[in-house]
Amino acid sequence: MHITQLEIDNFKSFGRKTKIPFLPGFTVISGPNGSGKSNIIDCILFALALSSSRHLRAERLTDLINLNNDRNTAEVEITFSDGTVIRRRIKRTENTYYNYLYLNGRPCRQGELLEFLAGHGIVPHGYNVVMQGDINRIIEMSDSERRKIIDEIAGVAEFDAKKELALQE
Ligand code: ATP
Ligand code: MG
Repeated sequence: MHITQLEIDNFKSFGRKTKIPFLPGFTVISGPNGSGKSNIIDCILFALALSSSRHLRAERLTDLINLNNDRNTAEVEITFSDGTVIRRRIKRTENTYYNYLYLNGRPCRQGELLEFLAGHGIVPHGYNVVMQGDINRIIEMSDSERRKIIDEIAGVAEFDAKKELALQE
């Protein structure tokens, strides 16, 4: 399964509704410094509800709302190759903010979304997204730490944990 389209509305530097298609194969996003390349990655993390605002390079979630107009919402929609559509919207009010999640147009809880994503191998703190600095960290790790990451990516770590549990019982 892969992402086929992003729809970004009023998120970070994307003040206007923007559709970004992902064609089959490898996609590279290029552009001048500050033009919004990393913001596209941020919008994916935001919609997958995988990341805290810190990982999104924002102090508060409400900083994700475009600053250049007076609208109070930011919204990202991701379409996957199997037709699944997930959407996340954040709305700012005078003293708080609200989060809305949708799975195929139906409101859903974060747990439900995470379960759906986990079924496709996308997990919080997993290695679906390699952030700036991650590569250096992996290079500088000890051999056993690096092995743990490979086990996790290969899906072996889950079984090791279950085996450990079974042996304890
Ligand atoms: P680089 O090549 O330097 O990594 P980039 O293309 O990855 O650049 P981004 O980090 O995606 O650039 O975009 C940074 C821009 O996004 C900055 O100009 C910043 O002002 C703008 N930006 C961030 N948050 C908001 C916001 N809430 N409203 C409007 N603009 C925003
Ligand atoms: Mg960048």
